[in-house]
Amino acid sequence: MDYLASIAGPGAETHRETMNSSLNPGFLAELAQQASALDPTQEELEELFTKTGNYARQHLATVRETPAYVKSKERSVGLLSSPIGEEGISLDEALQLLYDFVDHEGLNSGSPRYLGYIPSGGLVHSAFGDFLAAVGGRYAGVFHSSPGAVRMENMLIRWMAQIVGYPRGAGGYLASGGSIANLSAVITAREASGLRGADYDRAVIYMTAHTHHCVDKALRIAGMGSSIRRRVAEDGHCRMSPDALEKTIVADKASGLNPWLIVGSAGTTNTGTVDPLSEIASIARSHHLWFHVDGAYGAFFALCPEGQEVLSGINQSNSLVLDPHKTLFLPFGTGALLVRDQEFLGPAHGGRGEYMLDMDSDAHELSPAYLSPELSKHFRGLRMWLPLKLLGVAPFRAALSEKIHLARYAYERLREFEGFQVGSYPDLSIVTFRYVPEKGDANEFNLALVNRLHQDGRAFLTSTRIRGTIVLRLAIVSFRTHLEDINETLEILCDHVNALKEK
Ligand SMILES: *Cc1c(COP(=O)(O)O)cnc(C)c1O
Repeated sequence: MDYLASIAGPGAETHRETMNSSLNPGFLAELAQQASALDPTQEELEELFTKTGNYARQHLATVRETPAYVKSKERSVGLLSSPIGEEGISLDEALQLLYDFVDHEGLNSGSPRYLGYIPSGGLVHSAFGDFLAAVGGRYAGVFHSSPGAVRMENMLIRWMAQIVGYPRGAGGYLASGGSIANLSAVITAREASGLRGADYDRAVIYMTAHTHHCVDKALRIAGMGSSIRRRVAEDGHCRMSPDALEKTIVADKASGLNPWLIVGSAGTTNTGTVDPLSEIASIARSHHLWFHVDGAYGAFFALCPEGQEVLSGINQSNSLVLDPHKTLFLPFGTGALLVRDQEFLGPAHGGRGEYMLDMDSDAHELSPAYLSPELSKHFRGLRMWLPLKLLGVAPFRAALSEKIHLARYAYERLREFEGFQVGSYPDLSIVTFRYVPEKGDANEFNLALVNRLHQDGRAFLTSTRIRGTIVLRLAIVSFRTHLEDINETLEILCDHVNALKEK
């Protein structure tokens, strides 16, 4: 029966009994009066602009000097003493809570001496982009809703595709970060290869011991937790060995398994090492495997000549992840997936509801909603477009070159320091090293060293374990990090080594 006719029968009146107040104008006016707080007056807006502006200005004026890391005993628990309640608090009070309990404890990702993990950027122009995106409220998921927002995001995708040398016909989308983009890549590869549940136990994925753990997470989330993962042997510099890769694939085929996916790293998180991408690509082609490259940390180095050389072959991959919130210096919240042939994105991510009937008219460009897991989404394009348009690409290129040269500089300095041992020459902008004490266990010494550095907080470094050896890392990724910051960090490091030696 016709839907509207079907609901007009007996029983349709039951809810109406309680709805009398909906017809009472006084009651509605009272609700409107209370709800009007959600829409600030000009005066209230002025206060929001001025006070948050001042807060931001003060933050930026001091971000270079504030410690890279602060760990208090209370660990921000004070925030909980101001619970969410029926009544609001003043903006001054709210900003004070933010200042006391959020912005002054933990990692200061804006510090030029934040050199741990992979630093995120925090380019302030992006904050204004986010602000305008939120104020404008354009929906960037479907072309019909905001042709401009969708064109902007797709334009950025094409720009990234061009940087890495992907052909026309490549596509992709802006994700919230590298982990989600890698998950989408795994699902795209799975659908492109026609794998079904019954095939998962025999599907083989090739990576190294240094592949980011989000790939394992992605496989599990994708329902492929039972697939077989090969940690392909690496050369002395932590790069995937093409010989070992090919031998493993051949052996797996011979034993009836289904070699499916190779995950190469364009800059591992551990050491910043780039796998031999060209050689891996040709093995992938000759054995018909999908070749995915995780370039969340490293792919943007393709913008500078030094990086381009190291990344050669990246354009031969089937899919690629980049993280604008790392090496394009954006604040947290933007990753990107590129797929060499965008035709593969739709089958992996497409889907429509009946309530979307009006959405498909007049589409001049592909819509992110049909190429990605999200429907309602943040208009991420603006936070990336605004800085690129205002500043041009040149300063980004220069900053990336600078990071590579600073890493080489730090490597040479550390190599000369007595008692220090350096890891491989940096491919990109991560330097690994350790101090080898004359007596005692080196691993324990270096863990104690990193602990002291964290207590100190002026500079922030992290440790990792490579084949059982604890090493320290300098991940030089922030646009604010310059030569004087590296020198200061090395001084702090030596001070703590000396203090530890005397203990
Ligand atoms: C950071 C990183 C990821 C994860 O990306 P998120 O943006 O943190 O989700 C994946 N791979 C590599 C190599 C990374 O450095």
